[in-house]
Order: sequence, then C-alpha cells, then structure tokens
Amino acid sequence: MGKRILVLVGDGMADRFEPDRGETPLQAADVPNMDELARRGSTGLMDPIRPGVRPGSDTAHLALLGYDPFKVYPGRGPLEALGAGVEVRPGDVAFRCNFATVRREDGDLIVEDRRAGRISEKEGTPELARAVNEEVDLPVEFEFREAVGHRAVLVLRGDGLSADVTDADPKRPGRPVKEVKPTSDDPAAERTAEIVNEFIRRAHEVLENHPINEERRKRGLPPANAILPRGAGRLRRVEGFEERHGMSGAVVAGASLIKGIGRMLDMTVPEDEGITGRKDTDLRRKAELALRCLEEHEFVLVNFNAVDEMGHDGDFRGKVEMLERMDRELVGRILDEVDPSEVVVCLTADHSTPVTVGDHTADPVPVAIWTDDARRDDVERFDEVSVARGCLGRFPGLRLMDVLKDLADRLEKFGA
Ligand code: ZN
Ligand code: ZN
Repeated sequence: MGKRILVLVGDGMADRFEPDRGETPLQAADVPNMDELARRGSTGLMDPIRPGVRPGSDTAHLALLGYDPFKVYPGRGPLEALGAGVEVRPGDVAFRCNFATVRREDGDLIVEDRRAGRISEKEGTPELARAVNEEVDLPVEFEFREAVGHRAVLVLRGDGLSADVTDADPKRPGRPVKEVKPTSDDPAAERTAEIVNEFIRRAHEVLENHPINEERRKRGLPPANAILPRGAGRLRRVEGFEERHGMSGAVVAGASLIKGIGRMLDMTVPEDEGITGRKDTDLRRKAELALRCLEEHEFVLVNFNAVDEMGHDGDFRGKVEMLERMDRELVGRILDEVDPSEVVVCLTADHSTPVTVGDHTADPVPVAIWTDDARRDDVERFDEVSVARGCLGRFPGLRLMDVLKDLADRLEKFGA
C-alpha cells in the first residue's frame, strides 16, 4: 500500500516582482509553515499548463489532477452547474446564468442591471428558480437552479443538442439581451439556440409578475425579471479520478468551479456552509475537513480561493494577509497533524495572479513536496524565486500527479 497524498492549492498564490515594494507578495509575507515545508522537502517550479498558456482555475486544476485540459475541458457552464449541485450527464449542454433586470422596449428586452441589484438566495432566488422550472415549457428536458448570489445555472438534456451557441448576456447595461445564435453548421446548434431563446422569453414572462419581483419593485429594488445564459458547454465522458489513478479522491473547496471539477471526475466533494470560497471562509474548518477526508480517501486536494481574489483586486497588502492566514490556519495545522511516513504533502498554486496585472498569467508557480523520504534540497523559503534552485527543477502541471504518485510509492515498475 502506498502513502496517501494531500495537495494544498493557494489559488493564484504565485505572483511577479512588484516594482514599488521590491518583492512578490509571497516574499513579503510571513509564512513560517510554508517555509518549513520547503525546508523539509523537495521544491521546484511548475508550469500549470505550459509556458505560453494563461490558465483558468478550472483548466489548471484539471492539469494538476492529471487530466489534459485540451482534451477534457467541458467549458465553464457544466462545471458551474456541477458546482451548484445540479446533475450533469455526458451529452447535456449547460450554461451559467445571471438573474438580471430588464425593461421591454419595442419588443426587445433591454438590460438595466446584469445582476438584478445583486439579488441573493436569501432574497428569493430559490423560489424564482422553482417558478421557472415549473412554469416554463421547452421541447427538451431542462433544469434551472439558483447558484451563489445573483448567479444560476441551466442544464438542457436530450438528443440533438449542441454547445456551439453564443451568449445572451450583452455584458453591459443599456443593451438588448442578445439573441443566441449557432456558431457551427450543426443543425443541433441551431435547434439549441432556438431553445435557449425560447427559454429566455418564457422565463421573463414567468418572472416579470412574480410576487417576489412585485415586492422588490415596491421596495425600490430592481426586479430579477430575466435570465441571461452564457458559457455553453457540454460534458464529455471522462475517466473518473479513481479509475485513472487507482486512488479514491476528494476535493475540499468553496468555489463552485473547483467543486465542479471534483464532481466531473467523480471525486467526493463535501458541502459545508462555513466554506465559501471567499475572504470570509472558515479556513480552520477547511483544514479539519481536509484531515477528515484524508482518513477516508487516499488523495485530497484543498483549494483556498481568497488569495486569487486579492490578486484580481490588485491588492498587494490583502494578498499578503491572505497568504499569512493560509499559512497559519491551513498549512500550519496540516504540518502539525500529518504523519510524513504515511502522507505526501504538496503545496502549490494553480497559476499566478499578479497584483500588477489583476488577472491570471502564465508565469510558473512554486511547488514544495514533503514526505519522510523526499529529497531535501537547500531551499529554505517558499517563494517564486527561492524554489527555482530546488531539486524538482521545472516541470509541467500535467506531470504533478506522476511526481506525487512516485513519492507515494504508487507507480508500477516499467520493465524488469
Ligand atoms: Zn485559480
Ligand atoms: Zn482568478
């Protein structure tokens, strides 16, 4: 029996040199536990997908889990739907959606607010979603479900569907809801576009005079009287994680996109109200949940999303704070609890989200891997520059599972 494997992902944790501060957030942060992990183990740099490809969190996580995203990535719609807890089967076409506010003008629906005043679950999106499910009739089976905040997901099920269709979301207020159009010659694409347009019209009729929206108007709030689908994607049949790697796997995450990745690969994805994928997430609880999952599974991936948010906000200080929180509340707890003769621990990022850029970049990310017999190099700090001297060198994310499975003594021998 091999060792178990625990992967800690600081989402977008890696960064670039910030000219005014003279260092990266990881270099500026006080992260003694991450440094300890680097000191005790092997370190190196990893290109999450490959040089020249700016990864999304979804495509990067697929690579880290040993799946070539160029072959299996289904698009964002199906992952968000799976993350929201909706069943998506191979062949289904899924969209992510916004609840929005529209007004009628010469037969067009003009978007006034793309997020319907940032309506939330507490303000009735589950009831609105239920009404749409019950009262809208389409020529195919469908499921519409609220997600976090003003978001929702739509899954179309049946034969003759295609994901080759455009978005309805005009992205800016004051513009009409876009007519969904096919993007290929496939007759299924034309049919799917018609079905989605029909869905938008019918959903508007159902929502326009819904009691929740009447109430919102009375209170001076924008009604959630339209749904804007986008990001069509189709789920392909993909080998599950356990089938591929011979280990039962779990994903502990708050962000629905990452939960969706886990569900797509048939991994265990626990739901927990304290774990939100945002700044207010309960990291100590996440650490406990990860340790519990590690008792029942041979592989666990934990994602901490709030670091990435700070990168998107261009907030250097905020990113440093989030890194320090991750160090204390997650990495420290793991170091205290894990037995390195039984577990391989890996700390890394899914991509860089430099505060100087405010978005993901293709820069390589630091990796530290610790288990009792992992080679120790002379790297003593966990940051983008120090680990470049580490004994793992620089390798692609798609090879991470191989490196970990080797150290966990889970690889078959090739030859005699
Ligand atoms: Zn990410
Ligand atoms: Zn991001």
